[in-house]
Amino acid sequence: MSATETTVELGPFIAGKAEPLGDSVQEIRDPATQRVVGRVAAATAEDVDRAVRAAQDAFADWSARGVAERGDIVGRAARALRAGVDVLAPVLTAEQGKPLREARIELDKAAETLEHYAGLAKELRGAFVLGLDPGVSGQVLRRPLGVVGAIVPWNFPTTLLANKLGPALVAGNTVVAKPADTTPLTTLRAAAIMHDAGVPAGVFNVVAGPGRETGEALVTHPLVRKVAFTGSTPTGQRIMSLAADGPKRLTLELGGSDPLIILEDADLARAASAASMGRFFNCGQACLAVKRLYVAESVADEVAEAVVQKASRLTVGRGTEKGVQLGPLHSERQRDLLEDQLRRTLEQGGDVLTGGGRPAADELSGGWFHEPTIVFEPPHDSPMATEEVFGPVLPIWRVRDLDEAIERANASPFGLGSSVWTSDLDAAAEAAERLECGYTWINSPTKVYDELPFGGVKASGFGKEHGSEAFDYYTDQKAVVIRRRTREQQ
Ligand code: NAD
Repeated sequence: MSATETTVELGPFIAGKAEPLGDSVQEIRDPATQRVVGRVAAATAEDVDRAVRAAQDAFADWSARGVAERGDIVGRAARALRAGVDVLAPVLTAEQGKPLREARIELDKAAETLEHYAGLAKELRGAFVLGLDPGVSGQVLRRPLGVVGAIVPWNFPTTLLANKLGPALVAGNTVVAKPADTTPLTTLRAAAIMHDAGVPAGVFNVVAGPGRETGEALVTHPLVRKVAFTGSTPTGQRIMSLAADGPKRLTLELGGSDPLIILEDADLARAASAASMGRFFNCGQACLAVKRLYVAESVADEVAEAVVQKASRLTVGRGTEKGVQLGPLHSERQRDLLEDQLRRTLEQGGDVLTGGGRPAADELSGGWFHEPTIVFEPPHDSPMATEEVFGPVLPIWRVRDLDEAIERANASPFGLGSSVWTSDLDAAAEAAERLECGYTWINSPTKVYDELPFGGVKASGFGKEHGSEAFDYYTDQKAVVIRRRTREQQ
């Protein structure tokens, strides 16, 4: 989307049709400039009802198709999405703020995840148990659940949706998605592209709008059998209480405060790169961002210097400009929150090694920019350690040894991911066992693989996305007992 392009206007996408805007219109603004880049319909409870009914109507036919056919259709949709990256990436940058390069990475990853599940279609199987009793065998059938409500945040609007869409559709469910109220444009456009590629009407619907109205109408709709939610912990708790009425099945992918531990025998250069990349990708607004860095005291100064160098060299600017590595924060609210967390932390203690405020450049004054920032040794009970910090600020602490690092890492209410950098395999294995979270990277950047299950513990939620394990969250396992007539009965 170029600066000269007219704003996009999009209604809900229901039963294979992009509907008109209607009366209740919401403006979408570019976080780098505050320019209006789109107008969308804020879906009412009635719109949500129509979308859920369309999904329910499509369910009988979709779930009755062969799994290979569903996989084939999801594969075609994925290829269409990939082919549309040039069109979609500028839209994603305009509404989310991330650099174009990162928008392309995100969209490619969304297509890759859909392709992954398309490929797993033929692996979707239940079980058969012989000899439960004489002449008695058992089957475990995997049945789709029905209509899935998929609610996602604004930080990775397309990958977080693809994580749900892939396993849900391949397993035979139909989906009504609700993107964040500030990032609906790419999702609405992607739905149309996927429909044109062969996803039947009603199988994938999108309603945009605020969480309290549109989101809650979706969660509480009696025909929605499962809610797959990614977002903040307080919203997850609210959704959990609303879903109790069903009761409905839930996956909750919530907040995180991932620690990265560097021991003195680590490859320090690579570890510092992983910490920097892990913290500053998407302007620090990732659930699995590196949010706390614990470094063995003998090498802490060296690591801090390396990370400061990387942070201070990042090019901050509008996501549409060439060479930009750090875009704006997504909204005024996010920047206010980050600045407040930093202020409250520094009142308690800690040294700012680089950054600390808004960039001085005049041309950035219209957006929600914040400098890449490193804070050394803030108190362990400050917001940097106890809250989720969603922005480009990395705190560093010295630790005596692995024991202290693990103790500090586990002291967080969150338990999403963690990283350990060491050349001592025993230490790495011990850390992987003792760190309370759903994913541990050892000597590796924080890349999420479609082949492995991803999901948190503690305040980071429950349930898995990615991996063949994700199918467990979109299917019911039904037991069937088959008793044949024995010889005596024949
Ligand atoms: P948020 O909880 O405010 O919103 C997420 C989504 O929920 C949005 O679509 C929003 O409109 C909707 N929503 C809000 N209130 C609702 C309600 N009462 N009922 C139904 N839907 C409602 O989260 P956010 O601030 O937009 O996103 C950032 C958070 O998401 C961070 O905490 C981040 O760590 C988390 N996140 C987690 C993962 C993961 O996989 N664990 C991935 C990415 C982001």
